[in-house]
Amino acid sequence: MSRAAKEISPIEIYKYLPKTNCGACGEKTCMAFATKLANREARLEECPELLKPEYKEAYQALWEMLKPPVKEVVIGSGDRAVKVGGKYVMYRHELTYHNPTPIAIDVEDTLEPDAIRERVKRIQEMAYEYIGRLLKLDGVAVRCVSGDAEKFKQAVQVVAEETDMPLILCCLNPDVLEYALVTVYERRPLLYAATKENWREMAELATGYKCPLAVFAPGDIALLRSLVKTLTAYGVEDLVLDPGTFPGEGFSDTLNNFTMIRRAACKQGDELLGFPLLGVPAVAWLDKEAPYELKAWNEACMAVMLLTRFADLLIMHSLDGWVQLPVMIWRENIYTDPRKPVSVEPGLRTFGQPDEMSPVLVTTNYALTYFTVENDIKAAKLDCYLIVVDTEGLSVQSAVAGRKLTAELIADAIKESGIEERVKHRYVVIPGLAARLSGELEELSGWRVLVGPKDSSAIPKFFAESWPPKEEG
Ligand code: SF4
Repeated sequence: MSRAAKEISPIEIYKYLPKTNCGACGEKTCMAFATKLANREARLEECPELLKPEYKEAYQALWEMLKPPVKEVVIGSGDRAVKVGGKYVMYRHELTYHNPTPIAIDVEDTLEPDAIRERVKRIQEMAYEYIGRLLKLDGVAVRCVSGDAEKFKQAVQVVAEETDMPLILCCLNPDVLEYALVTVYERRPLLYAATKENWREMAELATGYKCPLAVFAPGDIALLRSLVKTLTAYGVEDLVLDPGTFPGEGFSDTLNNFTMIRRAACKQGDELLGFPLLGVPAVAWLDKEAPYELKAWNEACMAVMLLTRFADLLIMHSLDGWVQLPVMIWRENIYTDPRKPVSVEPGLRTFGQPDEMSPVLVTTNYALTYFTVENDIKAAKLDCYLIVVDTEGLSVQSAVAGRKLTAELIADAIKESGIEERVKHRYVVIPGLAARLSGELEELSGWRVLVGPKDSSAIPKFFAESWPPKEEG
């Protein structure tokens, strides 16, 4: 029975470490390494001593102790492979979530080859830059809608030629599935899916071709668990669970099932349910009568709720930006480490072609604040300097309230940035939400303080009206 991550103390881990304090893991002591292991900030393999034969048993004991209650399963091969699951906790705030939920987009085998190519191209090209990170889609789920082995194989081949993204092969007929699988098995696609009718043939495919296997038991957790028991006994190790995604009225049952399965794995140590969960928001498109926008809207809502309620992998249909962006941004937010605010490097940045009379602005190193300010400066085509103060990743308002952004820290940041050699004037623009620091900052730094807008979207208006400052104009 696996144990919740927070239950394992560094002392328990330390007992099994070599205790030589050799430093090869990058930590000064084995105890420090034990603390990192307990926080899931280091891997066992980083201690080379543990890999020696004499520590084989200790390594095994630690591996058992530290393995996540939700198994990590790899789909795909090479650089584009994705890891799904690998969750240590039920709720993000208990530690952090690992392995952001990959989003695969479906492609039907009834499409003409050119239409398939076009769809795959769109899947690959969808990208959005958000607080310095590139948000992208992660895989392609080829669906056998035709029931025709030749057609399915051709669709799989066209997709495989067009992209090296991980693949999901969706076909409940094992013969049809194998006909396509033989051409792409080396790419380790996820096979979808074993059911109570076909589990034996699917298990043969999964073990024979060394591919992960999805298990499908819609609305029946007992059956799902029983199938997992049978499949693992058969030798299939890498499973992904699909308890069914039901649109409309059935969606609350869907979320309940996902929650019960995850609770069983993380809180009750049920290893048979300790596998990644697959959600399929694409079912929103099964309602042929509903208008296009409503189906797309429903799909986005289901995807966001499934992301929140434990889905480790999603299959979606829509490629509309207004559907995918909220989903990808939500994923980005729940998969950030709650112990470490998302931050950027502090220091001096330049925008455009600033000269000795260009404005000097100040902001914090919280990533969302920084990139919002950066975007607004770029949109305003402002030639300026921006001093990013280290507030330990806090936004302006929180940093001022928590004394992570003080007049003293800004004065130090001004000094350390070297800006005094770059500009002739001595005016600094601080965020409107830090207005109360202005008097003390003037005293400590010797610079005149201009209080900028509370929202950086007002930067163009502010500089149109307030720069250059009156005395300099
Ligand atoms: S490498 Fe291993 S033995 Fe050496 S200090 Fe780190 S944990 Fe201890």
